[in-house]
Amino acid sequence: MQTVGKMMQRPLLVSAILEHGAYQFGKQEVVSRETHGTLHRYTFSDMASRAKQLANALKDLGLQPGSVVGSIAWNNYRHLETYYGVSGGGMVMHTCNPRLHPDQLAFIINHAQDEVVFFDSSFAPLVKAVAAHCKLVKYWICLSDKANMPSIDGVELVCYEDFIAPFPSHYEWPDLDENSGAALCYTSGTTGNPKGVMYSHRAIALSALSACLPNVLNISSQETVLPVVPMFHINAWCLPYACLIGGAKLVLPGPKLDGASLYELMESEQVTLSAGVPTIWMGLIQHLEQNQLSFTTMRRTGVGGSAMPKALIAKFNEVYNVDVRHGWGMTETTAVATISNISAEEMTLPESLRHDLVAKQGKSVFGIELKIVDEDGNTLARDGQSQGELMVRGQWIVENYHKADTQALVNGWFPTGDIATIRPDGVMQIRDRTKDVIKSGGEWISSIELENAAAAHPQVAMAAVIGIKHPKWDERPLLLIVRRQADFTDKQELLTFLEQRVAKWWIPDEVVFVDSLPVGGTGKVQKNELRAQYGGIFSA
Ligand code: AMP
Repeated sequence: MQTVGKMMQRPLLVSAILEHGAYQFGKQEVVSRETHGTLHRYTFSDMASRAKQLANALKDLGLQPGSVVGSIAWNNYRHLETYYGVSGGGMVMHTCNPRLHPDQLAFIINHAQDEVVFFDSSFAPLVKAVAAHCKLVKYWICLSDKANMPSIDGVELVCYEDFIAPFPSHYEWPDLDENSGAALCYTSGTTGNPKGVMYSHRAIALSALSACLPNVLNISSQETVLPVVPMFHINAWCLPYACLIGGAKLVLPGPKLDGASLYELMESEQVTLSAGVPTIWMGLIQHLEQNQLSFTTMRRTGVGGSAMPKALIAKFNEVYNVDVRHGWGMTETTAVATISNISAEEMTLPESLRHDLVAKQGKSVFGIELKIVDEDGNTLARDGQSQGELMVRGQWIVENYHKADTQALVNGWFPTGDIATIRPDGVMQIRDRTKDVIKSGGEWISSIELENAAAAHPQVAMAAVIGIKHPKWDERPLLLIVRRQADFTDKQELLTFLEQRVAKWWIPDEVVFVDSLPVGGTGKVQKNELRAQYGGIFSA
């Protein structure tokens, strides 16, 4: 018979993260670029006081435990207060992606049954577009002071500062069940309607704790963290929670995510650690190159959301002395599920081999298990060669979608829709999305690997590879390139460059130069749009 552990059962709660941050690191700063461009600065302790004012204000509106509160906002201090005031008070924080089409935005607000929606003033046009279709929303609250309030015809708006001002800054956080819902985020939904993932307090607390580990992002009170990853998508990788657990200064960039604005903020606030999608880092590096700049304090960056090309990893590391941590995760995994890092032994490898390793998506963090399976669900070998669908399970992985009547899991594992390999030492590599992999003559070509190989060419700013229907081979790769200089027109040079890096039968059948690539709301290239545009190119 098993003995019962005699330890306290204390719930893991979002409110406890706030209390810890305010109590242990009360003087630590939160710096936030406001929608209007100015910098706002206050402490964890100020933030906690205002989050409690907000919790009081929401209670006064009559919101109940489990009520859903939406947000349409950038990374800024008022949005941070809603993270804690809403979830801490027992309600659910539903972060909405403002880059969704208004129809989809209205769909998720209605599906989630948001009763209140907080929004940044710059999203007033979006609120105007959806408000009439969101009948359950009783209050649209603009995250603003009185002076900067927008007005929207036909929609009564509440000013956030007026909303919280009358209420005291003390609040008894409810003793919630750690499995109750704290936050809700919908998948990007490139096919069909977005699906909601309801994160429990426990999932958030565990995932945020994990982000602080040295092998993950190493968040401590010695760091200044700038999350470029948006607070409206996958909880900004739980960084808004992890920084309060670890005591790190938090720098929130607001709406300005171009290379120049980020660089300026990184330098002025002495940022040491950041996190974002590869497209953001491409913009930043371009700015540094064009202006011959370097970083003074930045030493580490987390990157994920799509594959980080080796060439960019090498540049960050060798030229700018920034250590890249390449992570993998999805809406369904709360935040980071795997991350690359280099052991002491691997530090002795030649630079190029180290960058190869970081270009893979790394090892699962404690709490997360991975396996790969074939089309019949058989587990494949962890030999670094066998490719199959990546399956994941763990304490902060979705069990079922919000209000769904179908099961999300297969035998207790979540099927990710990603194709991966896993090496004997546990290093996982994403080869493709199941829908993006190119099936040529019965074999698979990894679009990600081709893109990474192309990205190493000095004239390539961005690359995307898609499979195009082909009369003989079923599908063949098409390479789309955004050039660094418009007068570079030598397609053959690109193909010869690729021949030195990938198998001959992988070489794209055609190269198309484009001015830009369509990038979706979460920083990923929209390959379905490219397929729609170029799908007929080989049969024309
Ligand atoms: P989302 O739920 O919108 O964040 O998308 C999650 C998907 O992004 C994953 O299933 C992967 O296909 C992709 N993804 C995330 N991180 C990476 C990465 N480091 N490399 C390649 N693909 C990634």
